[in-house]
Amino acid sequence: MCGIVGYIGKNKKAIEVLINGLENLEYRGYDSAGIAYISDNELNIIKEKGRIQNLKNNLNLNTESRLGIGHTRWATHGAANKNNAHPHRCNNITIVHNGIIENYIELKEELMNIGYTFKSETDTEVASALIDYLYSKYNSMDKAIIEFENKAKGAYAIGIIVNGNNDNLYAIKKGSPLIIGVGNNENYIASDVPAIISYTKKYITLNDGEYAKISEDNIEVYNEFGKIINKEIKEFEGDANSIDKCGYEHYMNKEIHEQPEVIKKTSDMDNLPNINNFSKITIVACGSAMHAGLVGKNLIENYGNIPVDVEIASEFRYKKLFLNKDNLVIAISQSGETADTLEAVKIAKKYGCHTLGIINVKESSIARECDDVLYTKAGSEIAVATTKAYSAQVEILSILAYTLAKNSDNVKSIVEIKNFLEDLKKLPIVMQEVIDDEDTYKNIANKIYNKNDIFFIGRGIDYALSMEGSLKLKEISYLHSEAYAAGELKHGTISLIDDNTPVLGIVSDEFISDKTISNLKEVKSRGANVIYITTDSLNKNGDFYDDKIVLPTVNPLLQPLVNIIPLQLIAYNVAKLNNCDIDKPKNLAKSVTVE
Ligand code: GLU
Repeated sequence: MCGIVGYIGKNKKAIEVLINGLENLEYRGYDSAGIAYISDNELNIIKEKGRIQNLKNNLNLNTESRLGIGHTRWATHGAANKNNAHPHRCNNITIVHNGIIENYIELKEELMNIGYTFKSETDTEVASALIDYLYSKYNSMDKAIIEFENKAKGAYAIGIIVNGNNDNLYAIKKGSPLIIGVGNNENYIASDVPAIISYTKKYITLNDGEYAKISEDNIEVYNEFGKIINKEIKEFEGDANSIDKCGYEHYMNKEIHEQPEVIKKTSDMDNLPNINNFSKITIVACGSAMHAGLVGKNLIENYGNIPVDVEIASEFRYKKLFLNKDNLVIAISQSGETADTLEAVKIAKKYGCHTLGIINVKESSIARECDDVLYTKAGSEIAVATTKAYSAQVEILSILAYTLAKNSDNVKSIVEIKNFLEDLKKLPIVMQEVIDDEDTYKNIANKIYNKNDIFFIGRGIDYALSMEGSLKLKEISYLHSEAYAAGELKHGTISLIDDNTPVLGIVSDEFISDKTISNLKEVKSRGANVIYITTDSLNKNGDFYDDKIVLPTVNPLLQPLVNIIPLQLIAYNVAKLNNCDIDKPKNLAKSVTVE
């Protein structure tokens, strides 16, 4: 959510670095953009509603400047308009901010009482005024920042330019992501590595409460008490290619095609934590990660024989919990910055639970908070709608289910999954074949892209997949879609099934396949356009479907990784036919850093 970039140095033109950086953070989702830069000792602020292109239209990229901050805003406080867009300036202080200042109303009142006035509706402008007030009070940025951190509640990452000080850029981090890019006689700040990868691979992560004073040839990081601390300089493992479309029209399609490779990389799991001795597992996550958790629940319960609850993190945070130290809490998040999931982990730890993160972004907040971490090796995922990171999450849950099954005395599951490791090795080839069957998905997309309501049904693990398939379609094509447990349809939703209503039925679990087929017959006889998705071992002919996709049968612990592909590619092709902004769907953000 939101993007921050900052530059200080003589080697480059700040405006160019800021715009390029913001463009590489577009994937995070935003509704307006702006920059502040110093040129000829003057501070300039330019901002616009909508895409970065609107901002560019008002800029001269060749303007000489060696210090600047830039921002893409995902509005939380105040409408998405030019006036509320960042940067915000109050007297000597100009800032860009990601996150929320929760007590901004009280702070605003206090500041108004001492004469401050406000032009925008944002919490950010209040933060700029508070820092300005504290800076004028103490005549020291260090003291102002430390006091600001004591007073401002909530989550924030902030980049600051101080009037009259063109030699420094300041950065504060508490709860929202921020890194410092380390260059040669030039330095950067950014919400994430893609913003600066074309300039430097070296970076420093800030921990919550830390702040930095950055000049072109020096970076000083302080803790929340103002004590200078030593920070490790890390090196990003990917390269600029990992954030390039590599010839694909959309990142989403590129990322769907990367899945076989991601599955291969993620299968290399050394040092799995021992999770055999827990009496219960609770999975906390949001969105697609939560759907991956539901697939994991089915696999772990069926094969690993341990009860699993899956909780939406934003619900988990505020409900009565029955947790204890015999519970393992698994937190799943691509970015590792999902605000609700991060808080859920902190709560679980208070109950004495062991916490395990399944995370894509190394060193992210959730990864650092959890007792153990298993990294999905999906690389940078740029499209807002996740595909490869979701699959890698499911894969790790399959591996955990296998490990639990192997160590259990559940003979049935041991027999069923005995070739798991060999099957996992062969899986990328199978997935590639399924991805290559492009015409099938295009053909189905052509039949459903102009419909208003689309249903996905399945039972058990197929229901969990239906939920993800339906979400993918909604996210990027804006069509209304619902996932239903197949047996639940006739308790209400079947009344919505009309002539030609598309119903995608997923049938991949032998145990309940006949039941789901009966449900498909029920909707077919009410006029639905049934798309039957099944595996070659369960494939049935009949008059209960209009189209059929037959997928290769693989090890039951890995089957979901094959089955999800058609759902992703149907969603992708439907969105394409509807001319949607596939990689950056409206109102959505990649990394949801607010609760
Ligand atoms: N809360 C701030 C605003 O609404 C920052 C939002 C963001 O993270 O982009 O302006």
